[in-house]
Amino acid sequence: MIPKQTIDEIFDAAIIEDVVGEFVPLKKRGANYLGNCPFHNEKTPSFTVSPAKGIYKCFGCGKAGNSVNFVMEHEHYSYPEALRFLAGKYSIEIEEEELTDDQKEAADERESLYIVSNYAANYFKKQLLESNEGKAIGLSYFLERGFREDIIEKFQLGYNPDGWTAFTDEAEKAGHNLKYLDKSGLTIVKGDKKFDRFKGRVMFPIHNLSGRVLGFGGRILKSTDKAAKYLNSPESEIYHKSKVLYGIFTAKKAITQEDICYLVEGYTDVISLYQSGVENVVSSSGTSLTEGQIRLIRRFTPNITILYDGDAAGLKASFRGIDMILQEGMNVRVVLFPEGEDPDSYAKSHTTEELKDYITTKAQDFIRFKTSVLIKDVGNDPIKKAELIKDIVASIAIIPDQIKRSVYTKECSSLLDIPEQALINETNNILRKNIAKQTKKSSSQFQHQEQEIPDDLFLPEEFQGQKEEKGSGDLQHWEKEIIRLLVSFGDQTIHVELTNEQDEKVKEEVSAAVYMIDNIIGDGIFFENKTYQKVFDFYNEKLKNDQLPSHQDFINNTDQEISQFVIGIFSTQHELSPNWEKHKIFTITEDQQLTLAVERTTLSFKLSKVEVLILEKQEEIKIEKSYDKQLELMKEEKAFQKIKIQLAAKLGRIILR
Ligand code: ATP
Ligand code: MN
Repeated sequence: MIPKQTIDEIFDAAIIEDVVGEFVPLKKRGANYLGNCPFHNEKTPSFTVSPAKGIYKCFGCGKAGNSVNFVMEHEHYSYPEALRFLAGKYSIEIEEEELTDDQKEAADERESLYIVSNYAANYFKKQLLESNEGKAIGLSYFLERGFREDIIEKFQLGYNPDGWTAFTDEAEKAGHNLKYLDKSGLTIVKGDKKFDRFKGRVMFPIHNLSGRVLGFGGRILKSTDKAAKYLNSPESEIYHKSKVLYGIFTAKKAITQEDICYLVEGYTDVISLYQSGVENVVSSSGTSLTEGQIRLIRRFTPNITILYDGDAAGLKASFRGIDMILQEGMNVRVVLFPEGEDPDSYAKSHTTEELKDYITTKAQDFIRFKTSVLIKDVGNDPIKKAELIKDIVASIAIIPDQIKRSVYTKECSSLLDIPEQALINETNNILRKNIAKQTKKSSSQFQHQEQEIPDDLFLPEEFQGQKEEKGSGDLQHWEKEIIRLLVSFGDQTIHVELTNEQDEKVKEEVSAAVYMIDNIIGDGIFFENKTYQKVFDFYNEKLKNDQLPSHQDFINNTDQEISQFVIGIFSTQHELSPNWEKHKIFTITEDQQLTLAVERTTLSFKLSKVEVLILEKQEEIKIEKSYDKQLELMKEEKAFQKIKIQLAAKLGRIILR
């Protein structure tokens, strides 16, 4: 837990152009900065940074936010991770709240493991590039494989010398505790014996998202039958295989930009593709694909393409991975390489263009892929064909999105020459069974939430009953307008006509905020939208304490809901009302404009609120059985109607005045 006070301190310290500038080259343009958007591909810059507002906004892709949002978005950090990053940048010390001794010890242990791993990566690299043994054996191997030197550097490849304890001795000499060398798996400790796990191997460090070393893969160079070709670090406090993807650190930017992630088998495939210019590539090295790894990719893109070499055993094993990707709601395609080729060898023997062309044109969607693999065993056997169809339908049923399901069903129907309706029926059967299973599982947790088995599982969304309430669309618009005026212009003065106690009309000067808030609270109106209500309450609290909230109070609000919403408002142009000309108002001062906008918006908001209340009353009247109560309700409705007429009349006067 980071204390609130520290969070405020971080927000205060963060200078937007400084934070963004660390990742994006910016040029000054007037009061603002301009650059190429890091969140989408563009050639002419449309990414702006406003030091005055403390926000960034891209006019190409629409992304906008404050310093913390930028770091979250760009580095794919969580909120606390982003705060920590900025705290580090501005040397703000974070005093963690509520850490127990156990938590502290665990944190210390993780940190020690990071330190040891980082030390090891540097040691291995130095051995590879500077020692005679490393150069003669390790470096020459990599160069022979065709890895360029800049790529060797980029992936921090290394070499662990062939002595039994070369690394361990050096690490201990440098002051590293054997306990952590053991826990990281770099050293194997047996009783009072110890030796290097990776002796005589070239080393592939495995990085997390932010580039810290978590573990290693090591490839043997001598061809002995006994030792495994590849060895990997064991699980540790920092290295959880099921959540790590090799290459994610080097790939993440390209994955976002290309909006697709290539998945390959191992270290050398990742490196070779990267060297050939396909940078959005990762591998699950050594484990079969896990849910955690898929979710890691999903943070960057919904599109995965698996690159396989064509061996048959591997292909069938890949089906499970495909189903898992489908289950996460992601799109999966498969590229098969020609007999005897894997991504690594293909990348090496072809130009970048040929490689890119191959992986884009040869990508099959999972139905085609699965069919083409399974159909080989089917021949003319109808029973086997039925099994194949069930197999594929089972995969379709996993897809959470029903529109995607129906698209794939169509494709499957034409590919296998089966009537679409038969496939739909089968899919619905599976879905019903699954829902029934889930209902059983969850019923103990959510006893009051009954899950129905819908009959229209396959209906596209537009055919399903629309739930939108009548009349509330307008209200939503005016709710938003009120909040927009409040946060953008609340601190400015307007001149309104009020009726004083002697029933005389007087012109008074008030702040826009006070006028709107008094009006709304005075009539006991609440916002339907929770975020708007939050912003409104925040403003009102400040006013109560005789403060006017500044734009920064909103932009850097520690409530993400508030800050995100308000940034959205600030990053679009401040316009009072786009269509004054419609009302034949051409020449008025800004001050008059604001007065008009505030009065008109407040009235319109109230008017649409009353309209919704009237509709609700009418509904109540319809279903009320008691006559007396019906009369009562009708009276109430009439009162609302009266208010509506008054408001409408007032609104008319204001516009024509
Ligand atoms: P060769 O030079 O004989 O082709 P290689 O180093 O290319 O060997 P392959 O046997 O071709 O390795 O393996 C293909 C991919 O799978 C490589 O990227 C490799 O890094 C990876 N790999 C193989 N075995 C393992 C393992 N046990 N753990 C992690 N990755 C592995
Ligand atoms: Mn190989």
